[in-house]
This record gives sequence, C-alpha cells and structure tokens, in this order.
Amino acid sequence: MTKQRTLAAPITFSGKGLHTGALVTMTVHPAQEGSGIVFRRTDLKGSPSVAALAHNVCDTSRGTTIKDGKAKVSTIEHIVSALWTMGVDNALIDIDAPEVPIMDGSARAYAAEILRVGTTEQEAPREYFEVTEEFLFEIPKKGVEVRITPAEEYSVDVVVDYNSKVVGRQSSHYDGSVDYPAEIAPCRTFVFLHEIELLLKLGLIKGGSVESAIVVVEKPISDGTKRRICKTFGREDIEVEKGYLNHLQLRFENEIARHKLLDILGDLALLGRRIKGRVEALRPGHLANTQMAQQLEAKLTK
Ligand SMILES: [Zn+2]
Repeated sequence: MTKQRTLAAPITFSGKGLHTGALVTMTVHPAQEGSGIVFRRTDLKGSPSVAALAHNVCDTSRGTTIKDGKAKVSTIEHIVSALWTMGVDNALIDIDAPEVPIMDGSARAYAAEILRVGTTEQEAPREYFEVTEEFLFEIPKKGVEVRITPAEEYSVDVVVDYNSKVVGRQSSHYDGSVDYPAEIAPCRTFVFLHEIELLLKLGLIKGGSVESAIVVVEKPISDGTKRRICKTFGREDIEVEKGYLNHLQLRFENEIARHKLLDILGDLALLGRRIKGRVEALRPGHLANTQMAQQLEAKLTK
C-alpha cells in the first residue's frame, strides 16, 4: 500500500503571471492528508480557496484556470504537474495574485525546489482510480484525441503534429521510471509567432518575455515584424534560426512534445487520485485534458 505524501517544508516562488503581467508570490505549504492540492488567494478578503480538482475548471483557453466562488487561479498546470508527479498528494498553495508565475515557461524551478526540500510520508493510503474500461475524448475537427485504457501502472504517451515544418511530428513518454525533474520539468511552453501577434493585440502575454517560451516561426519574418517583436520584448538582437527565434537553445530535440506531456500530467492530476491506466494523447491541449479528467471524476461520484 502506498501512502500519501506532502512537502517536507514550504517552498516559495515569485515572478510574473504570463498573461496578466501581475507580480506574484506563491508559497506552497505542506498540508494535511486527504486535503489534496488547494490554492488560497491571500490577496482577497477572507482568503478564499479553490481545490485543484477537475470540476473547478472554468477556462482552458490559454492554460488551465480553476474557480470556486471568489477564488480563481489561472495557469495552474505546471506547478500542479510538478507537485503531483513528484509524489506530493497534499499541498496548500498561497498565492497573492490571480495567476501562477510563469517562471521560464517550464516546471524546472518548481521541480528543483520540491527536490531540495523533499517530501514526507503521511498516514493515509493513496486513493487510486483503476481504469476498467476505455475513456475517450476527441475533437475530430482538430485531430485531438485523449484515450485512457486499463493498465496496471500509470503511463502517458503524447504525440504532437501541427502540420508545422519546424516542429514536425514529435512524441514523448512518461511512466514511473522516467526522471521527471530531469526529463520533463525543464521543458518550456511554446508559441507560434503568429499567435504572439494576436495575443499582443488582445492585451495578453503582458508578463511574457522571450525567455519564457519557445517561439516557433513558420515563415520568414519581415523587418517590420522583427522590429515589433524586438520592441515588445525589449531586445535588439532577435533573429530566426532553424524556425525558432534565436534567444534560446532547445533543451531537448522534442521539447515541445515533452512540454505537452508536462501539461497533461498536471491536468489529469485534477482527478485528485492516482490513475492506474494507460493514457494516449494525440495533439492534447488543456480542454481535452481537463475534459478527460472530468469524465473520470464523474465516475468517482457515481
Ligand atoms: Zn504548459
């Protein structure tokens, strides 16, 4: 029997929310067994809280947002992915803004801190969701598919393919033997250049810098576009190399597929139970991932 775990000591992060640009400080505290992962908005009157559970998901358009009454927190997927995958079942996350800090676009800083303080075993046993039938969520128009089938152990396979010459078709794999802090956590979020232009027009990615995402460039960019990007991100030396903006080196050849894996590990953690089953995801995204978590959750409450 495996027991629940929590952090051995609190860990703190500060940075900017990707979309709001708000400065945020977030402290992850150890928490009682059976409490799960809970966010508490310390900047709001009465410090209302929201549990990181599938039925609290209210928006998946640019990251996963959860809400319960007045407590709403966005972009929760990377910290939840790191905590849950590294064995933390219970944590209370104090946050003083509506959005989790984006850090470098990955879960590297989170994983490093979790490793540094370690985790402690609690008394209560872990609860599992044993998959006994096939679950499927698909968006045929977009070629999105998330499927879960029975298996003794939890594993996740991700395939991404966006008809992009730059990204190509990439895959990634997780099971209990994969070194999450080294192999998955460092993988950064990514964005296509044409999406950045749209997001900027919408007044989003205020907290973004070219250091917090891999930027994929499908077509050669004009001098005008280049100037706009340089201005937006306060850089003068932006060039395109091999389809990516030149500000970064890929950490893995399939970093994009690995980031999608990081995301789905976080989104499926919103079930609040460890899954015994095999997950296969084609072009997954926060909508498909959290819909799948809700499908499983609905079985729990029956
Ligand atoms: Zn992500």
